[in-house]
Amino acid sequence: MGTHAFQAEVGRVLSLVINSLYSNKEIFLRELVSNASDALDKLRFRALTEPALLEGEPELVVRLRVEPEAKALVIEDTGIGMTEAELVENLGTVAKSGSAAFIEKLEAGAKKDVSIIGQFGVGFYSAYLVADRVEVVSRAAGSGAAWKWTSSGRDTFEVEPAERAKRGTEIRLFLKDEHAELLEPWRLRDLVRRYSDYVAYPIELETTAKDDDDEPEGDAPPKRETINRGRALWQRPKGEITDEQYEELYKHLTHDWEPPVARTHFRVEGTQEFVGLFWVPKNPPFDLDDPRKQRGVRLFVKRVLVMEDCEAILPQWLRFVRGLVDSDDLPLNVSRELLQESAALRTIKKQVTKRALDLLDELATDKPEDYKAVWSAFGRILKEGLAVDPEWKERIAKLSRWPSTYVPGDGPSDALVSLDEYVARMKDGQEAIYYVTGESREALSGSPHLEALQARGFEVLLMTDAVDTWAAEGIGEHGGKKLVNAMRADVKLPEDEDDTAKAAAKELEPLVAAAKKVLDGKVRDVAVSSRLRESPACLVLAGAAMPAHLEKLLARSGKEVPKGQRNLELNPTHPAVKALATLAAKDAADPKLADWVTLLYEQSLISEGSPVEDPNGFAKRVTALLVQAVS
Ligand code: ADP
Repeated sequence: MGTHAFQAEVGRVLSLVINSLYSNKEIFLRELVSNASDALDKLRFRALTEPALLEGEPELVVRLRVEPEAKALVIEDTGIGMTEAELVENLGTVAKSGSAAFIEKLEAGAKKDVSIIGQFGVGFYSAYLVADRVEVVSRAAGSGAAWKWTSSGRDTFEVEPAERAKRGTEIRLFLKDEHAELLEPWRLRDLVRRYSDYVAYPIELETTAKDDDDEPEGDAPPKRETINRGRALWQRPKGEITDEQYEELYKHLTHDWEPPVARTHFRVEGTQEFVGLFWVPKNPPFDLDDPRKQRGVRLFVKRVLVMEDCEAILPQWLRFVRGLVDSDDLPLNVSRELLQESAALRTIKKQVTKRALDLLDELATDKPEDYKAVWSAFGRILKEGLAVDPEWKERIAKLSRWPSTYVPGDGPSDALVSLDEYVARMKDGQEAIYYVTGESREALSGSPHLEALQARGFEVLLMTDAVDTWAAEGIGEHGGKKLVNAMRADVKLPEDEDDTAKAAAKELEPLVAAAKKVLDGKVRDVAVSSRLRESPACLVLAGAAMPAHLEKLLARSGKEVPKGQRNLELNPTHPAVKALATLAAKDAADPKLADWVTLLYEQSLISEGSPVEDPNGFAKRVTALLVQAVS
């Protein structure tokens, strides 16, 4: 009870909203109706186990009403309601991350479109786009007491006891003068049809005879008219649903303000009957990587929402796909625990996974540009499936795209290629699909590991996501061709000039032996290379060694990284290596030899994007060489 200060974050959101000159202010109605509909969902769900909550007010409805004298618009629902503590908590505080992200987005947005507000968990405050004072009277289900929350949206709000005959919430907006048109019934009808038609509860407009233009004046009782269609949209036949209606439902469910890229709406018959409606969003939500944030599918059973974030319906690697399932067969009292064990759910999950992949396939074929954008936004998530889900990996592999060394004659050089395209282009005699992994396309495209492959005209995939190493291992092979990491020590290329390599190996023996001593602890082994053309040396992966960019990632997250796991390979045809070999044959203990071998190693570190371990020593060694060269 009494006066409360808004949390600082709420204050920032409010001042932005109140002072906004943004377009689209009318979306406040969608936000408030959406909250009302959520409150009704919550009530209906709780009433499954506590039917007494419905007593005295069996109706589940949203009502709109105007009070012309007070210039007020009232949005009422018979939903779950809020206690005193909930009014303070829900309408006085917000999640910091959400409000900060909202402010940032709105300030950065070119369009200054406030309709994004719902996405950030601050939709209620959109009331202040059109009102200079807001009053919320609420009585929680199962409670006898009602409370009133009031605020002009500046610094503080009041909470005091109030009267309300039945369960539910009533939000009274005292409209700013310039928004008086919201008192017109036609305007409200129009807004509800436009933004809230999908709402599954009736939205009633209450008018007295006086409000409606052509009725004679009098004390007639209020008229109630349902202004939305009020039937779960997904239960209607596809042909009766417009794109706009799908889109409004999508926005309602996801709070994403951008239209989705693709959707699939289907009914499955058989042992498990259900309707599914799924979308692929355009952009990742700001908190996609937040592990605390649940991101599942809405699960309905016979039109009743039973779970808001059901994670068991889609595999983890499809967590960017949004949507709902409405089952005819699951029990209404289904719980997360029950779902874990449920064979019915496994059937649903399989069907939904298949449909979601079908949708992506279709997009990839019909609208490759759109698919490319989807892949850029969510590919790294989809690829997780390659590593963990053998059942679906072939389908995911088909959908996967990577940068590559292939430069199309006419196309853009940032093209992404699929494994099918790669295999179709493979050179005669090429037996494997080659890839390298690293931090960026730029860093990789100059990598020494590519030299021998490129000399043979082989294309190489340039994999730059952290998940790629596991993804590529997960795929194993595609179209009968093995995926081979070109950075590994044991890569065998066709027509390896074995004899020259063997002969060279003999000549390089003293150098290799000396290098092993010098680099002891830094590398696992030193060997003669057949993969290099221009570069004198490079580091390759042996045994369980990890690529350099993954080591860096691990180190950044504070994990212990085993040292010296890679092999150094020397190019026997390189003049510098040849000269060092001669030196080593003459005097393996020459101190210059140690310096120069170390330099080769350090240069290999730099070229793979790793830091040199001793930058000062490195600088000294380079300077010494410079002095020798110029004097
Ligand atoms: P969000 O709905 O995204 O959580 P809002 O700012 O719109 O963010 O609402 C904040 C919270 O206030 C809601 O989560 C809900 O708990 C509560 N709330 C808002 N409107 C109602 C209502 N009509 N009935 C019951 N609770 C409500």
